[in-house]
Amino acid sequence: MFRISQYLREVAQAQATGTYPAVRERRARGPVVIWNLIRRCNLTCKHCYALSADHDYAGELSTQEVFTTMDDLRAFGVPVLILSGGEPLMRPDLFDIAARAQAQGFYVGLSTNGTLIDAPMADRIAAAGFDYVGISLDGLKATHDRFRRLNGAFDLSLAAIRLLADRGVKVGLRFTMTSLNAHDLPALLELMRQEGAHKFYFSHLNYAGRGNIHRDKDAQFGATRQALDLLFDRAWQAAQEGREEDYVTGNNDADGAYLLQWVQARMPQWADALQARLQAWGGNASGVNVANIDNLGHVHPDTMWWHHDLGSVRERPFSAIWQDTSDPLMAGLKAHPRPVQGRCAQCRHFALCGGNTRVRAQQLTGNAWAEDPGCYLRDDEVYLSDPAAAASTRHAAEVAHA
Ligand code: SF4
Repeated sequence: MFRISQYLREVAQAQATGTYPAVRERRARGPVVIWNLIRRCNLTCKHCYALSADHDYAGELSTQEVFTTMDDLRAFGVPVLILSGGEPLMRPDLFDIAARAQAQGFYVGLSTNGTLIDAPMADRIAAAGFDYVGISLDGLKATHDRFRRLNGAFDLSLAAIRLLADRGVKVGLRFTMTSLNAHDLPALLELMRQEGAHKFYFSHLNYAGRGNIHRDKDAQFGATRQALDLLFDRAWQAAQEGREEDYVTGNNDADGAYLLQWVQARMPQWADALQARLQAWGGNASGVNVANIDNLGHVHPDTMWWHHDLGSVRERPFSAIWQDTSDPLMAGLKAHPRPVQGRCAQCRHFALCGGNTRVRAQQLTGNAWAEDPGCYLRDDEVYLSDPAAAASTRHAAEVAHA
């Protein structure tokens, strides 16, 4: 995840005070865990990576197995659990799991399509004390209902946002952009502000599940740049006005490089400080600071790697699976720097991007270490003509994570 607002708040503070704030990138011992507790879903969205449907799936983790795994996650230093699905609200023990996670001190997020949240359910969610609830909206009504394959889905999700916001729950919108819904982004950003949502999560389309099947519909790179420009403008305005709005992106770590260029063009005096911050962040975190457990208990480097199984929490604790680098993919993901190839290996931004999203390279070329085909930066923004300077950026990637 790339936190646009966090970095632009720092730049805004630098503009206001004349000094770039001293901030250290905090790293928890364990990764953020996105946990798909259930595969069943009441919707069958076009871009669903979990390929969910409205029926039960055999072999899902029992409540006790979830609890046992949570104990291991806590001992391992996992700071955040994002409870997801399928539709997590269809899991009968969801609130028991959430309560235990809260009691153990996790930051607990809920990722839902929102269509099952009526007033009584909103009361339960508010009482459960989730730290954050993300609700997916793929556009305005016509677009969203088409994506979600359900007439009325937009109205239900919007009602859920209102019900939760009314109860003081920190709620955010999740938007996955394709060429078929990019036109709705400006209106959705307005909607976010109108409805008092705290966060806007902009997800680039990745190539997994139904998203993979619809690869040819991926937004063109120009549209991606326009969308990022809009998000940056919005986040910058919010930072200057002191609004409590968070703009974050996912599935494309070139966003860090693109933000650096945005700041270089407007406030070049802060570009070096921002670059140092972004290098400390380090870009793509799959297999390192982000992990996924699926509904059957299988561990993956992130949610887009369901076709790559690292082992089951039924057979080994998560902490053991996660630290095991005998798997070549995990060894590469945890390497500093990662063994990326092509333009990523020569890129001036490699130290802050980390070579971006490996699953896209793997899905498109069969080689997980090929250059990321989803990078929307132009060649003149990527390559350094001076070989010595290119070598120094690779060195920066090594020291940033030493
Ligand atoms: S070329 Fe590769 S390393 Fe450079 S910004 Fe694009 S994805 Fe990241």
